[in-house]
Amino acid sequence: MMTNRVAVVTGASRGIGNAIAAKLADEGYAIIAVGTSDMEKVAANLQNIRQAGNPFAYAQADVSTDAGRQSIIACALEKFGRIDVLVNNAGVAPKTRMDILETTEESMDRVLGINLKSTFFLSQAVANIMRREVGEIAGIAPKIVNISSISAYTSSTMRAEYCISKAAISMVTQLFADRLADEGINVYEIRPGIINTDMTSVVKEKYDALIANGLTPIKRWGQPVDVANAVSVVCSGMLNFSTGEVINVDGGFHIRRL
Ligand code: NDP
Repeated sequence: MMTNRVAVVTGASRGIGNAIAAKLADEGYAIIAVGTSDMEKVAANLQNIRQAGNPFAYAQADVSTDAGRQSIIACALEKFGRIDVLVNNAGVAPKTRMDILETTEESMDRVLGINLKSTFFLSQAVANIMRREVGEIAGIAPKIVNISSISAYTSSTMRAEYCISKAAISMVTQLFADRLADEGINVYEIRPGIINTDMTSVVKEKYDALIANGLTPIKRWGQPVDVANAVSVVCSGMLNFSTGEVINVDGGFHIRRL
């Protein structure tokens, strides 16, 4: 049995998930990093996870499919034999921003499949492994961490399907937190604001101006490491009497102001 704790981080080939995986690797976790890209294409990105020197594997898998989710779990169990932490981070924006009066069923299915369905069913499958582990591995305190967004409660009518997927992740968090409390598994939602990654690069100038003009009380872009630090805190055990908790990592965006 692996003595390192083991973390599965989806969407770790770049952006926020990559920073989360690197942070947890630095803290001694063995890491299963998940992405859809060929490993060779993202090898340079994965270097910051590998450099911690802890066990590491890359699972090339599509989290929106059952086969993809099963292959991630098989990879974790075959290589490391346990899962202590699941971070449901993989997510996409709509390929094209479309007014809610024009949004297509195809885009809705894609965004909900990758952002929401994956979070629900990967949590379900991993929770069933974790509850077994709680009885078998002394001292284990498994955690599930869902990365949602300020879009869980902020309307953007040009990407309704994204907002809906993130609002639903908030309920997925509540449901699993409720069901898994008795199993010794805590569940958290991290709600990032505007974070500097590929996802936001297409709207960089717009957000530069909004931030400069005071959109967020803390007037800077969030960085992937800001989100990674929050994941580290909930995984640390320092919040073990809190479950279903939301941690805003948004520079204060959520504060109503007058
Ligand atoms: P990026 O676009 O930079 O990275 C997305 C990651 O998800 C990549 O690693 C990608 O891997 C992976 N991914 C996408 N589709 C799939 C799939 N079907 N199966 C497995 N992996 C997949 O996004 P961010 O890092 O910005 O976002 C990460 C999360 O944070 C998302 O859930 C996003 O909604 C959320 N978020 C982001 C904010 C921001 O401002 N950036 C704000 C609030 C929330 P690959 O390229 O290999 O497919």
